[in-house]
Amino acid sequence: MSALVGVLALQGDVQEHMTALGRAGARALAVKTRGELDRVDGLVIPGGESTTVMKLLSRFGLDDAIVARVRAGMPLWGTCMGMIVAANDVAGLDQPTLRLIDITVRRNAFGRQNESAEVPLSIPVLGEQPFPAIFIRAPWIERVGPGVEVLATYEGHGVMVRAANVLATSFHPELTGDSRVHRYFLEMLGAVGMDTSAA
Ligand code: GLN
Repeated sequence: MSALVGVLALQGDVQEHMTALGRAGARALAVKTRGELDRVDGLVIPGGESTTVMKLLSRFGLDDAIVARVRAGMPLWGTCMGMIVAANDVAGLDQPTLRLIDITVRRNAFGRQNESAEVPLSIPVLGEQPFPAIFIRAPWIERVGPGVEVLATYEGHGVMVRAANVLATSFHPELTGDSRVHRYFLEMLGAVGMDTSAA
C-alpha cells in the first residue's frame, strides 16, 4: 500500500500538492481535522498566507497535534508559507510559528522585482539537472541552526533545508511538472526508492 500523505487544507494551494503527490506515487488526503491528521504518514503544509494559517491552526486545535506528531517522527514538508509556519522564528516579526525546524526565515524576502520568479535551481541531492523553482512572495532563510542541512541556496540564502524528518522549501515544486522534490519527501517517509531523474 502506498503512503498516505496529508496536505494541510485550511488555506493555500492544497489541490496542486494533492495532484503532485499522486503523480509521485502517493495517496493524498486533505487534512482539516485532528482525526484526518491521525491517519496520515506524513504532512505537507502548502503555500498560502502564514498569519492566517497560524490563526486557523490554533482555532482548530491542530497546532499542538501537528507538533506532537512531528516530534514523534512524522515527516513534515513546508513549502513557502509552510516553511514559515514550520520555522523557529520570523525575522523582524513577532509572529507565532510551530517551531519545528531551527531556522529563522524572512517573509517576502526577495523584493518586488523577484516577487514571482522561476529559476533553474541547483539541488545536488536531486541530481545534476537544475530544478525549475517557482518563487512567489517567497521567504528566505536568514539563520540555520546546528543540525539543519542546507540543500539549496538562491541569491546567497538558503531556500531548501532539512533537519531529520522536517523538510522546508521557499519555492513551489507543486506548481511544476517535476516530481523530484515530492519524491524526495516520499523517500523521507520510506515510501519510495529515490530516483533522481527529472520527470
Ligand atoms: N508571503 C506569504 C507569507 O508570508 C507566503 C507566500 C506563499 O506561500 N506563496 O505567508
